[in-house]
Amino acid sequence: MQYLIIRSKMNRNIDNYRILILDFGSQYSQLLARRIREIGVYCKLWDWNITVEQIQEFNPNGIILSGGPESTIQKKSPRAPEYVFTAGVPVLGVCYGMQTMAMQLGGYVKKSEKSEFGYAQVNIIAKSKMFHDIRDSEKKDGTPVLDVWMSHNDIVTEIPSDFIVIASTDNCPYAIIANEEKKFYGIQFHPEVTHTRQGQRILKRFILEICGCKALWNPANIIDDAIWSLRKQVGTDSVILGLSGGIDSAVTALLLDLAIGKRLICVFVDNGLLRLNEGQQVTEMFGEKLGLNIIHVKAAKRFLKALAGITNPEDKRQTIGRVFIEIFNEEASKIPQVKWLAQGTIYSDVIESATSKTGKARVIKSHHNVGGLPKKMKLGLIEPLKNLFKDEVRKLDIELGQPYNMQNLHPFPGPGLGVRILGEIKEEYCNILRHADAIFIEELHKANLYNTVSQAFTVFLPIRSVGVMGDNRTYDWVVSLRAVETTDFMTAHWARLPYDFLGCVSNRIINEVTGISRVVYDISSKPPATIEWE
Ligand code: GLN
Repeated sequence: MQYLIIRSKMNRNIDNYRILILDFGSQYSQLLARRIREIGVYCKLWDWNITVEQIQEFNPNGIILSGGPESTIQKKSPRAPEYVFTAGVPVLGVCYGMQTMAMQLGGYVKKSEKSEFGYAQVNIIAKSKMFHDIRDSEKKDGTPVLDVWMSHNDIVTEIPSDFIVIASTDNCPYAIIANEEKKFYGIQFHPEVTHTRQGQRILKRFILEICGCKALWNPANIIDDAIWSLRKQVGTDSVILGLSGGIDSAVTALLLDLAIGKRLICVFVDNGLLRLNEGQQVTEMFGEKLGLNIIHVKAAKRFLKALAGITNPEDKRQTIGRVFIEIFNEEASKIPQVKWLAQGTIYSDVIESATSKTGKARVIKSHHNVGGLPKKMKLGLIEPLKNLFKDEVRKLDIELGQPYNMQNLHPFPGPGLGVRILGEIKEEYCNILRHADAIFIEELHKANLYNTVSQAFTVFLPIRSVGVMGDNRTYDWVVSLRAVETTDFMTAHWARLPYDFLGCVSNRIINEVTGISRVVYDISSKPPATIEWE
Protein backbone atom coordinates (compact mmCIF):
# COMPACT_ATOMS: atom_id res chain seq x y z
CA MET A 1 0.00 0.00 0.00
CA GLN A 2 1.31 3.44 -0.84
CA TYR A 3 0.68 6.60 1.07
CA LEU A 4 2.89 9.56 0.47
CA ILE A 5 4.04 11.18 3.66
CA ILE A 6 4.82 14.81 3.18
CA ARG A 7 5.98 16.57 6.26
CA SER A 8 6.39 20.03 4.89
CA LYS A 9 6.81 23.21 6.85
CA MET A 10 3.31 24.07 5.67
CA ASN A 11 1.52 21.36 7.61
CA ARG A 12 3.80 21.51 10.61
CA ASN A 13 1.92 24.46 11.98
CA ILE A 14 -1.42 22.66 12.00
CA ASP A 15 -1.40 23.01 15.76
CA ASN A 16 -0.58 26.71 15.83
CA TYR A 17 -4.17 27.45 16.73
CA ARG A 18 -5.10 25.53 19.80
CA ILE A 19 -7.86 25.15 22.32
CA LEU A 20 -7.43 23.93 25.85
CA ILE A 21 -10.25 21.90 27.39
CA LEU A 22 -10.21 21.56 31.13
CA ASP A 23 -11.75 18.24 32.07
CA PHE A 24 -14.03 18.19 35.09
CA GLY A 25 -14.80 14.52 34.50
CA SER A 26 -17.81 14.63 32.19
CA GLN A 27 -18.65 11.52 30.16
CA TYR A 28 -18.52 13.92 27.23
CA SER A 29 -15.20 15.68 27.78
CA GLN A 30 -13.44 13.82 25.02
CA LEU A 31 -16.41 14.31 22.78
CA LEU A 32 -15.91 18.03 23.25
CA ALA A 33 -12.32 17.57 22.09
CA ARG A 34 -13.47 15.52 19.15
CA ARG A 35 -15.97 18.17 18.08
CA ILE A 36 -13.28 20.82 18.10
CA ARG A 37 -10.96 18.74 16.01
CA GLU A 38 -13.85 18.15 13.64
CA ILE A 39 -14.04 21.90 13.27
CA GLY A 40 -10.40 21.59 12.19
CA VAL A 41 -8.63 22.99 15.23
CA TYR A 42 -6.08 21.24 17.40
CA CYS A 43 -7.09 20.86 21.02
CA LYS A 44 -5.98 19.08 24.10
CA LEU A 45 -7.89 17.78 27.06
CA TRP A 46 -6.28 18.44 30.42
CA ASP A 47 -7.17 17.68 34.00
CA TRP A 48 -8.93 20.67 35.62
CA ASN A 49 -6.11 21.16 38.12
CA ILE A 50 -3.58 22.12 35.45
CA THR A 51 -0.88 24.51 36.64
CA VAL A 52 -0.49 28.10 35.46
CA GLU A 53 2.85 27.16 33.88
CA GLN A 54 1.22 24.35 31.93
CA ILE A 55 -1.47 26.69 30.61
CA GLN A 56 1.14 29.27 29.65
CA GLU A 57 3.26 26.67 27.93
CA PHE A 58 0.31 25.33 25.97
CA ASN A 59 -0.60 28.91 25.07
CA PRO A 60 -4.22 28.34 24.03
CA ASN A 61 -6.33 30.66 21.88
CA GLY A 62 -9.32 29.79 24.03
CA ILE A 63 -10.29 27.65 27.00
CA ILE A 64 -13.31 25.40 27.44
CA LEU A 65 -14.42 24.18 30.86
CA SER A 66 -16.14 20.80 30.54
CA GLY A 67 -19.12 19.37 32.39
CA GLY A 68 -18.64 17.05 35.33
CA PRO A 69 -20.39 14.71 37.78
CA GLU A 70 -19.53 16.77 40.85
CA SER A 71 -21.64 19.56 42.36
CA THR A 72 -20.01 22.97 42.82
CA ILE A 73 -22.01 23.30 46.05
CA GLN A 74 -20.04 20.48 47.65
CA LYS A 75 -16.96 21.38 49.63
CA LYS A 76 -13.73 20.57 47.81
CA SER A 77 -15.45 20.23 44.44
CA PRO A 78 -13.09 21.10 41.58
CA ARG A 79 -12.48 24.68 40.46
CA ALA A 80 -10.76 26.11 37.41
CA PRO A 81 -7.37 27.71 38.13
CA GLU A 82 -7.98 31.45 38.63
CA TYR A 83 -5.50 32.10 35.85
CA VAL A 84 -8.09 30.85 33.34
CA PHE A 85 -10.02 34.07 33.93
CA THR A 86 -7.02 36.40 33.77
CA ALA A 87 -5.15 34.83 30.84
CA GLY A 88 -6.87 37.20 28.41
CA VAL A 89 -8.36 34.47 26.19
CA PRO A 90 -12.02 33.59 25.59
CA VAL A 91 -13.56 31.05 27.99
CA LEU A 92 -16.55 28.81 27.41
CA GLY A 93 -18.03 27.02 30.42
CA VAL A 94 -20.24 24.03 29.68
CA CYS A 95 -22.65 22.75 32.35
CA TYR A 96 -20.40 22.14 35.40
CA GLY A 97 -17.89 24.41 33.66
CA MET A 98 -20.46 27.19 33.56
CA GLN A 99 -21.49 26.55 37.14
CA THR A 100 -17.94 26.80 38.46
CA MET A 101 -17.20 29.84 36.28
CA ALA A 102 -20.30 31.61 37.63
CA MET A 103 -19.37 30.73 41.20
CA GLN A 104 -15.69 31.67 40.88
CA LEU A 105 -16.56 35.06 39.40
CA GLY A 106 -19.07 36.00 42.10
CA GLY A 107 -22.31 34.24 41.17
CA TYR A 108 -24.25 31.52 42.99
CA VAL A 109 -25.23 27.90 42.31
CA LYS A 110 -28.01 25.85 43.92
CA LYS A 111 -29.49 22.41 43.60
CA SER A 112 -32.39 22.79 41.21
CA GLU A 113 -35.90 21.83 42.26
CA LYS A 114 -36.29 20.16 38.89
CA SER A 115 -33.38 18.33 37.30
CA GLU A 116 -33.25 18.47 33.52
CA PHE A 117 -32.13 15.33 31.71
CA GLY A 118 -32.57 15.11 27.98
CA TYR A 119 -34.39 17.45 25.62
CA ALA A 120 -34.99 21.07 26.62
CA GLN A 121 -36.07 24.20 24.82
CA VAL A 122 -33.92 27.28 25.34
CA ASN A 123 -35.32 30.76 24.71
CA ILE A 124 -32.79 33.35 23.60
CA ILE A 125 -33.79 36.61 25.26
CA ALA A 126 -30.82 38.90 24.56
CA LYS A 127 -28.56 39.68 21.64
CA SER A 128 -25.05 38.24 21.67
CA LYS A 129 -22.13 37.84 19.25
CA MET A 130 -21.96 34.17 20.14
CA PHE A 131 -25.55 33.26 19.35
CA HIS A 132 -26.38 35.77 16.66
CA ASP A 133 -28.41 34.00 13.92
CA ILE A 134 -28.17 30.62 15.66
CA ARG A 135 -31.62 29.15 16.30
CA ASP A 136 -33.76 26.11 15.59
CA SER A 137 -37.08 27.93 15.46
CA GLU A 138 -38.87 31.05 16.63
CA LYS A 139 -41.74 31.60 19.00
CA LYS A 140 -44.82 33.55 17.86
CA ASP A 141 -43.39 36.72 19.39
CA GLY A 142 -40.12 36.24 17.46
CA THR A 143 -38.05 34.87 20.38
CA PRO A 144 -35.36 32.57 18.92
CA VAL A 145 -35.49 29.03 20.28
CA LEU A 146 -32.78 26.35 20.52
CA ASP A 147 -33.48 22.62 20.91
CA VAL A 148 -30.83 21.36 23.27
CA TRP A 149 -29.78 18.40 25.40
CA MET A 150 -29.35 18.93 29.13
CA SER A 151 -28.03 16.76 31.96
CA HIS A 152 -27.87 18.55 35.29
CA ASN A 153 -29.12 18.71 38.86
CA ASP A 154 -27.72 22.12 39.79
CA ILE A 155 -28.48 25.55 38.34
CA VAL A 156 -26.88 28.96 38.46
CA THR A 157 -29.20 31.16 40.52
CA GLU A 158 -27.17 34.37 40.50
CA ILE A 159 -24.76 35.47 37.80
CA PRO A 160 -21.55 37.47 38.34
CA SER A 161 -22.25 41.22 38.29
CA ASP A 162 -20.45 41.81 35.00
CA PHE A 163 -22.38 39.04 33.20
CA ILE A 164 -25.71 39.23 31.38
CA VAL A 165 -28.28 36.53 30.77
CA ILE A 166 -28.61 35.52 27.12
CA ALA A 167 -31.06 32.64 27.38
CA SER A 168 -33.22 30.62 29.76
CA THR A 169 -35.47 27.55 29.88
CA ASP A 170 -38.66 27.07 31.88
CA ASN A 171 -36.68 25.42 34.70
CA CYS A 172 -33.38 27.20 34.37
CA PRO A 173 -33.26 31.01 34.46
CA TYR A 174 -29.62 31.12 33.33
CA ALA A 175 -29.22 28.68 30.46
CA ILE A 176 -26.72 30.93 28.65
CA ILE A 177 -24.76 33.75 30.29
CA ALA A 178 -22.06 36.03 28.94
CA ASN A 179 -19.52 38.71 29.57
CA GLU A 180 -19.13 39.82 25.95
CA GLU A 181 -16.27 42.16 26.64
CA LYS A 182 -14.08 39.50 28.21
CA LYS A 183 -15.47 36.87 25.80
CA PHE A 184 -16.60 34.66 28.67
CA TYR A 185 -19.61 32.46 27.92
CA GLY A 186 -21.46 29.92 30.06
CA ILE A 187 -23.95 27.42 28.69
CA GLN A 188 -25.92 25.02 30.86
CA PHE A 189 -26.67 22.56 28.04
CA HIS A 190 -24.21 20.32 26.17
CA PRO A 191 -23.27 21.66 22.72
CA GLU A 192 -20.99 18.65 22.14
CA VAL A 193 -23.74 16.00 21.88
CA THR A 194 -25.44 15.65 18.53
CA HIS A 195 -28.87 15.92 20.11
CA THR A 196 -28.19 19.62 20.65
CA ARG A 197 -29.01 20.47 17.07
CA GLN A 198 -27.08 23.74 16.81
CA GLY A 199 -24.29 22.47 19.08
CA GLN A 200 -21.63 22.29 16.41
CA ARG A 201 -22.49 25.76 15.07
CA ILE A 202 -22.19 27.14 18.60
CA LEU A 203 -18.78 25.54 19.11
CA LYS A 204 -17.66 26.67 15.66
CA ARG A 205 -18.71 30.21 16.42
CA PHE A 206 -16.74 30.13 19.64
CA ILE A 207 -13.60 28.50 18.21
CA LEU A 208 -13.34 30.23 14.83
CA GLU A 209 -14.92 33.63 15.49
CA ILE A 210 -14.69 34.38 19.19
CA CYS A 211 -11.25 32.72 19.65
CA GLY A 212 -10.11 33.52 16.09
CA CYS A 213 -8.66 30.08 15.32
CA LYS A 214 -8.06 28.89 11.75
CA ALA A 215 -9.16 25.40 10.73
CA LEU A 216 -5.94 23.53 9.83
CA TRP A 217 -6.34 20.17 11.56
CA ASN A 218 -7.42 17.38 9.18
CA PRO A 219 -7.27 13.57 8.68
CA ALA A 220 -4.20 13.67 6.41
CA ASN A 221 -2.24 15.41 9.14
CA ILE A 222 -3.53 13.09 11.84
CA ILE A 223 -2.29 10.13 9.77
CA ASP A 224 1.00 11.84 9.11
CA ASP A 225 1.44 12.48 12.81
CA ALA A 226 0.44 8.94 13.78
CA ILE A 227 2.97 7.42 11.35
CA TRP A 228 5.77 9.58 12.66
CA SER A 229 5.04 8.91 16.28
CA LEU A 230 4.65 5.17 15.64
CA ARG A 231 8.07 5.07 13.97
CA LYS A 232 9.54 6.95 16.88
CA GLN A 233 7.92 4.71 19.47
CA VAL A 234 8.68 1.38 17.77
CA GLY A 235 12.17 2.00 16.41
CA THR A 236 13.41 -1.21 14.79
CA ASP A 237 11.26 -3.56 16.90
CA SER A 238 8.37 -5.67 15.65
CA VAL A 239 4.76 -5.25 16.69
CA ILE A 240 1.91 -7.70 17.03
CA LEU A 241 -1.59 -6.51 16.59
CA GLY A 242 -4.92 -7.96 17.55
CA LEU A 243 -6.93 -7.88 14.39
CA SER A 244 -10.62 -8.19 15.23
CA GLY A 245 -12.19 -7.52 11.88
CA GLY A 246 -13.62 -4.19 13.00
CA ILE A 247 -12.62 -0.83 11.60
CA ASP A 248 -10.59 0.18 14.68
CA SER A 249 -8.08 -2.63 14.54
CA ALA A 250 -8.12 -2.43 10.74
CA VAL A 251 -7.11 1.25 10.71
CA THR A 252 -4.52 0.55 13.43
CA ALA A 253 -3.09 -2.19 11.20
CA LEU A 254 -3.05 0.10 8.17
CA LEU A 255 -1.25 2.86 10.06
CA LEU A 256 1.33 0.39 11.33
CA ASP A 257 1.69 -1.10 7.87
CA LEU A 258 2.60 2.38 6.62
CA ALA A 259 4.89 3.07 9.53
CA ILE A 260 6.82 -0.19 9.83
CA GLY A 261 5.67 -2.45 6.95
CA LYS A 262 6.43 -6.14 7.42
CA ARG A 263 7.51 -5.70 11.02
CA LEU A 264 3.81 -5.76 11.82
CA ILE A 265 2.44 -9.20 12.60
CA CYS A 266 -1.33 -9.43 12.90
CA VAL A 267 -2.84 -12.01 15.20
CA PHE A 268 -6.44 -12.88 14.58
CA VAL A 269 -7.94 -14.75 17.53
CA ASP A 270 -11.08 -16.74 16.93
CA ASN A 271 -12.52 -16.67 20.44
CA GLY A 272 -15.68 -18.56 19.51
CA LEU A 273 -17.64 -15.36 20.05
CA LEU A 274 -17.51 -14.17 16.44
CA ARG A 275 -20.34 -13.72 14.00
CA LEU A 276 -21.19 -16.23 11.28
CA ASN A 277 -18.25 -16.77 8.84
CA GLU A 278 -16.39 -13.83 10.34
CA GLY A 279 -13.06 -15.59 10.79
CA GLN A 280 -12.86 -16.57 7.15
CA GLN A 281 -13.82 -13.08 5.94
CA VAL A 282 -11.17 -11.37 8.03
CA THR A 283 -8.31 -13.63 7.02
CA GLU A 284 -9.27 -13.36 3.33
CA MET A 285 -9.51 -9.59 3.42
CA PHE A 286 -6.33 -8.80 5.33
CA GLY A 287 -4.18 -11.75 4.47
CA GLU A 288 -5.00 -12.41 0.85
CA LYS A 289 -6.22 -9.03 -0.41
CA LEU A 290 -4.13 -6.58 1.60
CA GLY A 291 -1.12 -8.81 2.07
CA LEU A 292 -0.54 -8.33 5.80
CA ASN A 293 1.16 -11.01 7.93
CA ILE A 294 -1.62 -12.86 9.72
CA ILE A 295 -1.54 -15.62 12.32
CA HIS A 296 -4.97 -17.19 12.75
CA VAL A 297 -5.43 -18.64 16.27
CA LYS A 298 -8.44 -20.89 16.77
CA ALA A 299 -9.14 -20.58 20.48
CA ALA A 300 -12.92 -21.02 20.88
CA LYS A 301 -12.61 -23.96 23.29
CA ARG A 302 -10.11 -22.14 25.51
CA PHE A 303 -12.34 -19.08 25.84
CA LEU A 304 -15.49 -21.09 26.52
CA LYS A 305 -13.70 -23.11 29.19
CA ALA A 306 -12.44 -19.96 30.89
CA LEU A 307 -15.92 -18.43 30.74
CA ALA A 308 -17.81 -21.45 32.13
CA GLY A 309 -19.95 -20.50 35.11
CA ILE A 310 -19.27 -16.76 34.86
CA THR A 311 -22.43 -14.67 34.72
CA ASN A 312 -21.38 -11.18 35.78
CA PRO A 313 -20.83 -8.95 32.71
CA GLU A 314 -17.75 -7.25 34.15
CA ASP A 315 -16.20 -10.64 35.04
CA LYS A 316 -16.97 -11.89 31.54
CA ARG A 317 -15.27 -8.88 29.96
CA GLN A 318 -12.27 -9.25 32.23
CA THR A 319 -11.98 -12.96 31.47
CA ILE A 320 -12.25 -12.48 27.71
CA GLY A 321 -9.64 -9.74 27.94
CA ARG A 322 -7.35 -11.87 30.08
CA VAL A 323 -7.43 -14.94 27.81
CA PHE A 324 -7.00 -12.66 24.80
CA ILE A 325 -3.85 -11.13 26.28
CA GLU A 326 -2.55 -14.57 27.35
CA ILE A 327 -2.84 -15.73 23.76
CA PHE A 328 -1.08 -12.63 22.55
CA ASN A 329 1.76 -13.15 24.93
CA GLU A 330 2.09 -16.76 23.78
CA GLU A 331 2.09 -15.77 20.12
CA ALA A 332 4.48 -12.92 20.76
CA SER A 333 6.95 -15.15 22.58
CA LYS A 334 7.17 -17.29 19.44
CA ILE A 335 8.31 -14.34 17.35
CA PRO A 336 11.74 -12.85 18.00
CA GLN A 337 12.01 -9.06 18.08
CA VAL A 338 8.41 -8.49 19.18
CA LYS A 339 8.31 -5.91 21.92
CA TRP A 340 4.94 -4.29 21.30
CA LEU A 341 1.27 -5.11 21.30
CA ALA A 342 -0.91 -2.82 19.17
CA GLN A 343 -4.60 -2.47 19.87
CA GLY A 344 -7.43 -0.65 18.13
CA THR A 345 -8.59 1.01 21.33
CA ILE A 346 -10.51 4.19 20.58
CA TYR A 347 -11.40 6.95 22.95
CA SER A 348 -14.92 5.90 23.79
CA ASP A 349 -13.44 2.58 25.06
CA VAL A 350 -11.15 4.52 27.32
CA ILE A 351 -13.61 7.07 28.64
CA GLU A 352 -16.32 4.51 29.33
CA SER A 353 -13.79 2.56 31.36
CA ALA A 354 -13.06 5.78 33.24
CA THR A 355 -9.37 5.47 32.69
CA SER A 356 -9.27 8.86 31.03
CA LYS A 357 -6.35 11.00 32.16
CA THR A 358 -8.36 12.47 34.97
CA GLY A 359 -9.90 9.18 36.02
CA LYS A 360 -12.91 11.19 37.07
CA ALA A 361 -15.63 10.06 34.71
CA ARG A 362 -17.73 7.41 36.43
CA VAL A 363 -17.30 3.76 35.34
CA ILE A 364 -20.07 2.67 33.00
CA LYS A 365 -18.42 -0.56 31.88
CA SER A 366 -14.90 -1.68 31.28
CA HIS A 367 -13.99 -2.48 27.68
CA HIS A 368 -11.91 -5.57 27.20
CA ASN A 369 -9.09 -3.67 25.55
CA VAL A 370 -8.61 -1.68 28.68
CA GLY A 371 -10.10 -3.62 31.56
CA GLY A 372 -8.39 -6.89 30.74
CA LEU A 373 -4.81 -5.67 30.64
CA PRO A 374 -2.79 -7.46 33.30
CA LYS A 375 -0.50 -5.21 35.29
CA LYS A 376 2.64 -7.12 34.41
CA MET A 377 2.06 -7.39 30.69
CA LYS A 378 5.26 -8.38 28.99
CA LEU A 379 4.65 -6.25 25.91
CA GLY A 380 4.60 -2.49 25.54
CA LEU A 381 1.25 -1.11 24.44
CA ILE A 382 0.60 0.79 21.21
CA GLU A 383 -2.78 2.43 20.75
CA PRO A 384 -2.59 5.02 17.95
CA LEU A 385 -6.36 5.62 17.92
CA LYS A 386 -6.65 6.08 21.67
CA ASN A 387 -7.66 9.72 21.39
CA LEU A 388 -9.90 9.38 18.37
CA PHE A 389 -13.62 8.91 18.06
CA LYS A 390 -15.32 6.44 15.79
CA ASP A 391 -16.17 8.99 13.14
CA GLU A 392 -12.58 10.26 13.14
CA VAL A 393 -11.37 6.70 12.63
CA ARG A 394 -13.80 6.40 9.70
CA LYS A 395 -12.34 9.57 8.22
CA LEU A 396 -8.84 8.16 8.52
CA ASP A 397 -10.04 5.00 6.82
CA ILE A 398 -11.36 7.08 3.92
CA GLU A 399 -8.16 9.13 3.80
CA LEU A 400 -6.17 5.89 3.61
CA GLY A 401 -8.11 5.02 0.46
CA GLN A 402 -10.62 2.86 2.35
CA PRO A 403 -8.89 -0.42 1.55
CA TYR A 404 -10.99 -1.99 4.25
CA ASN A 405 -14.45 -1.60 2.91
CA MET A 406 -16.59 -4.51 3.98
CA GLN A 407 -19.94 -2.87 3.36
CA ASN A 408 -19.47 -0.28 6.12
CA LEU A 409 -19.46 -2.79 8.93
CA HIS A 410 -21.27 -1.74 12.05
CA PRO A 411 -19.03 -1.69 15.12
CA PHE A 412 -18.59 -5.01 16.89
CA PRO A 413 -17.33 -4.91 20.47
CA GLY A 414 -14.13 -6.68 21.50
CA PRO A 415 -15.88 -9.28 23.69
CA GLY A 416 -18.13 -10.02 20.68
CA LEU A 417 -21.13 -12.27 21.26
CA GLY A 418 -19.84 -12.63 24.83
CA VAL A 419 -21.70 -9.46 25.82
CA ARG A 420 -24.68 -10.27 23.62
CA ILE A 421 -25.44 -13.46 25.51
CA LEU A 422 -26.76 -12.31 28.85
CA GLY A 423 -25.35 -14.21 31.81
CA GLU A 424 -23.37 -17.40 31.32
CA ILE A 425 -21.93 -18.08 27.86
CA LYS A 426 -22.50 -21.55 26.43
CA GLU A 427 -21.59 -22.94 23.04
CA GLU A 428 -25.25 -23.74 22.34
CA TYR A 429 -26.23 -20.11 22.97
CA CYS A 430 -23.40 -18.86 20.74
CA ASN A 431 -24.59 -21.03 17.86
CA ILE A 432 -28.23 -19.96 18.25
CA LEU A 433 -27.29 -16.28 18.47
CA ARG A 434 -24.87 -16.43 15.52
CA HIS A 435 -27.59 -17.87 13.33
CA ALA A 436 -30.33 -15.44 14.46
CA ASP A 437 -28.03 -12.44 14.11
CA ALA A 438 -26.98 -13.46 10.60
CA ILE A 439 -30.66 -13.48 9.57
CA PHE A 440 -31.26 -10.01 11.04
CA ILE A 441 -28.21 -8.54 9.29
CA GLU A 442 -28.98 -10.30 6.00
CA GLU A 443 -32.53 -8.90 6.04
CA LEU A 444 -31.24 -5.39 6.83
CA HIS A 445 -29.04 -5.56 3.73
CA LYS A 446 -31.86 -6.96 1.59
CA ALA A 447 -34.22 -4.15 2.66
CA ASN A 448 -31.49 -1.52 2.13
CA LEU A 449 -31.74 -0.61 5.79
CA TYR A 450 -28.25 -1.64 6.94
CA ASN A 451 -26.69 1.73 6.21
CA THR A 452 -29.61 3.69 7.63
CA VAL A 453 -28.81 2.40 11.12
CA SER A 454 -25.50 2.90 12.93
CA GLN A 455 -25.42 -0.47 14.63
CA ALA A 456 -27.72 -3.47 14.59
CA PHE A 457 -27.41 -6.82 16.29
CA THR A 458 -29.23 -9.56 18.15
CA VAL A 459 -29.07 -10.32 21.86
CA PHE A 460 -29.61 -13.75 23.39
CA LEU A 461 -31.79 -13.76 26.51
CA PRO A 462 -31.36 -16.90 28.61
CA ILE A 463 -35.02 -17.18 29.50
CA ARG A 464 -37.50 -19.65 28.16
CA SER A 465 -40.86 -18.72 26.81
CA VAL A 466 -43.81 -20.80 25.70
CA GLY A 467 -44.73 -21.01 22.03
CA VAL A 468 -46.80 -23.18 19.75
CA MET A 469 -45.40 -24.75 16.60
CA GLY A 470 -47.25 -27.34 14.51
CA ASP A 471 -49.84 -27.69 17.27
CA ASN A 472 -47.11 -28.60 19.72
CA ARG A 473 -46.06 -26.66 22.76
CA THR A 474 -42.54 -25.26 22.53
CA TYR A 475 -40.57 -23.88 25.44
CA ASP A 476 -37.59 -22.11 23.98
CA TRP A 477 -35.23 -19.16 24.21
CA VAL A 478 -35.87 -15.46 23.53
CA VAL A 479 -33.77 -13.09 21.41
CA SER A 480 -33.99 -9.34 21.20
CA LEU A 481 -33.23 -7.32 18.10
CA ARG A 482 -31.36 -4.06 18.71
CA ALA A 483 -30.80 -1.25 16.18
CA VAL A 484 -29.69 2.31 16.93
CA GLU A 485 -29.06 5.57 15.15
CA THR A 486 -26.15 7.71 16.29
CA THR A 487 -23.14 9.51 14.89
CA ASP A 488 -20.76 9.30 17.81
CA PHE A 489 -22.04 6.32 19.85
CA MET A 490 -22.05 8.47 22.99
CA THR A 491 -25.78 9.10 22.67
CA ALA A 492 -28.17 7.09 20.49
CA HIS A 493 -31.82 6.74 19.48
CA TRP A 494 -33.39 3.32 18.96
CA ALA A 495 -34.01 2.92 15.25
CA ARG A 496 -37.60 3.20 14.05
CA LEU A 497 -37.40 0.14 11.77
CA PRO A 498 -40.59 -0.57 9.80
CA TYR A 499 -43.03 -2.98 11.49
CA ASP A 500 -43.27 -5.14 8.37
CA PHE A 501 -39.52 -5.49 8.30
CA LEU A 502 -39.37 -6.45 11.98
CA GLY A 503 -42.22 -8.89 11.39
CA CYS A 504 -40.34 -10.56 8.58
CA VAL A 505 -37.11 -10.88 10.60
CA SER A 506 -38.99 -12.32 13.56
CA ASN A 507 -40.73 -14.83 11.34
CA ARG A 508 -37.54 -16.01 9.73
CA ILE A 509 -35.68 -16.33 13.04
CA ILE A 510 -38.41 -18.35 14.77
CA ASN A 511 -38.84 -20.60 11.73
CA GLU A 512 -35.21 -21.11 10.86
CA VAL A 513 -33.36 -21.12 14.17
CA THR A 514 -34.06 -24.13 16.33
CA GLY A 515 -34.31 -23.15 19.97
CA ILE A 516 -35.93 -19.72 19.63
CA SER A 517 -39.63 -19.25 20.31
CA ARG A 518 -39.85 -15.49 20.68
CA VAL A 519 -38.30 -12.33 19.20
CA VAL A 520 -38.58 -8.90 20.84
CA TYR A 521 -37.40 -5.42 19.77
CA ASP A 522 -35.41 -3.13 22.06
CA ILE A 523 -36.82 0.41 22.22
CA SER A 524 -34.38 2.00 24.68
CA SER A 525 -32.19 4.99 23.87
CA LYS A 526 -28.70 5.81 25.18
CA PRO A 527 -28.73 7.26 27.78
CA PRO A 528 -30.29 5.90 29.95
CA ALA A 529 -29.64 2.48 28.34
CA THR A 530 -26.35 1.62 26.64
CA ILE A 531 -26.16 0.33 23.06
CA GLU A 532 -24.96 -3.14 24.01
CA TRP A 533 -26.90 -4.99 26.72
CA GLU A 534 -23.93 -5.82 28.92
N1 GLN B 1 -22.98 17.79 38.27
C1 GLN B 1 -23.50 19.05 37.78
C2 GLN B 1 -25.02 19.09 37.83
O1 GLN B 1 -25.65 18.10 38.04
C3 GLN B 1 -23.03 19.29 36.35
C4 GLN B 1 -23.56 18.26 35.40
C5 GLN B 1 -22.87 18.29 34.06
O2 GLN B 1 -21.84 18.95 33.88
N2 GLN B 1 -23.42 17.53 33.13
O3 GLN B 1 -25.61 20.13 37.63
